Amino acid sequence: MDATDSRRQFLRQAGLGAAMAALAGPGAAAASLAQPLTAAMQNNDKKKLGWAIVGLGKFATEEIMPNFKDCQHSRLVALVSGSPDKAKKLAQEYGLQEKNIYSYQNFDSIKDNPEVDVVYIILPNSMHAEYTIRAAQAGKHVLCEKPMATSVEDCQKMIDASKKAGKQLMIAYRCQYEPFNLNAIERIRKGELGKIRFITSDHGRLVKPTEDKADTWRVQKKLAGGGSLMDIGIYSLNAARYFTGEEPVEVTAQISSDPNDPRFKEVEDNVAFTLRFPSGVLASCTSSYSYETVKRGRIFGDKGWLDLDPLSDYDKHNMKIGKQDGKEEPQLKEGNQFAAEMDHLSECIMQNKTPRTPGEEGLRDVRYIMAIYESARKGKAIKV
Ligand code: NAD
Repeated sequence: MDATDSRRQFLRQAGLGAAMAALAGPGAAAASLAQPLTAAMQNNDKKKLGWAIVGLGKFATEEIMPNFKDCQHSRLVALVSGSPDKAKKLAQEYGLQEKNIYSYQNFDSIKDNPEVDVVYIILPNSMHAEYTIRAAQAGKHVLCEKPMATSVEDCQKMIDASKKAGKQLMIAYRCQYEPFNLNAIERIRKGELGKIRFITSDHGRLVKPTEDKADTWRVQKKLAGGGSLMDIGIYSLNAARYFTGEEPVEVTAQISSDPNDPRFKEVEDNVAFTLRFPSGVLASCTSSYSYETVKRGRIFGDKGWLDLDPLSDYDKHNMKIGKQDGKEEPQLKEGNQFAAEMDHLSECIMQNKTPRTPGEEGLRDVRYIMAIYESARKGKAIKV
């Protein structure tokens, strides 16, 4: 099943038939993609699958664990951590049994725990491959954080391990489960913006390794794989792909990092990259670890433009649309993208369907990221 098939399947499962039709091309009928995804799933199996979280860091504890409360098909049952005290405290907070706490050393014995169906990997980037493969070998389905891995080879090994185990592998591209982004995709496919000509997207923030523990590994090449591009530029890259519904054919890029800034001894700071798509659309994107937080995207068509600013926030999005006859600011309802994402995988497992963002989707982005690095290094366009 290719990415388009799996996007169709996702929309069908989410009860979003018209948007699915829209994937067939502009002008197709459309329904509202703004409805909460979980609501659209209510007719399906009410069973909840058991989830284990690997890595109890900032994102896991602040965004993922609290959002199981809104899941219809997923419940937190186990924790995997290198810090027994932290795990015990969190287990108490979430009402989990102490026997369901694992260390990185005894993680493989999770295979004997029938309560755990899915393992969610929320570790530093370079550890995603090892723990995804170990989880698959333990007979578990996997949701893995972005970027999928720090090399194309690792991505392929993760896909192979999950296939061999007959288990699902999904990459946590939360924006593809988020109502504003889904609504933008629907409008584009309906032809509301006319022929798409250009996309811009920027993702940046100030990386603070001396102040924020979660940033310490982000400036170490061995753990992060790269800098701003791997961490947040991937949102711009992925958005350009889901807005166009196309795969790029060529990338060009430039990188600029202050050699005197200790944060950028090992990983890059500023990246400017352009993706050329088969239809002729160009996507011009930036990522940075040294400009104040920006997470936005704009799609330019010959009938109008659409802004998402923010595009990739956790809980606050904003859409603006400009056309010849004026501007509008559609008032869409925020949804719980984390719960929608986890429930999507649980549903795919229960229904034996390929998720919307399978391992292959993560591998494609890592391949384009490597081409972006290559282009910057060689100072020339790279065909992909
Ligand atoms: P974090 O540093 O807060 O969490 C990482 C966890 O891994 C910590 O609990 C840490 O103890 C553990 N760990 C185990 N071995 C480690 C080692 N050798 N070095 C460092 N930490 C080790 O980082 P985070 O911000 O939670 O990011 C974790 C993952 O989640 C990354 O892949 C990141 O890209 C992803 N993430 C995704 C989003 C999103 O919106 N989808 C947001 C933030 C982070």
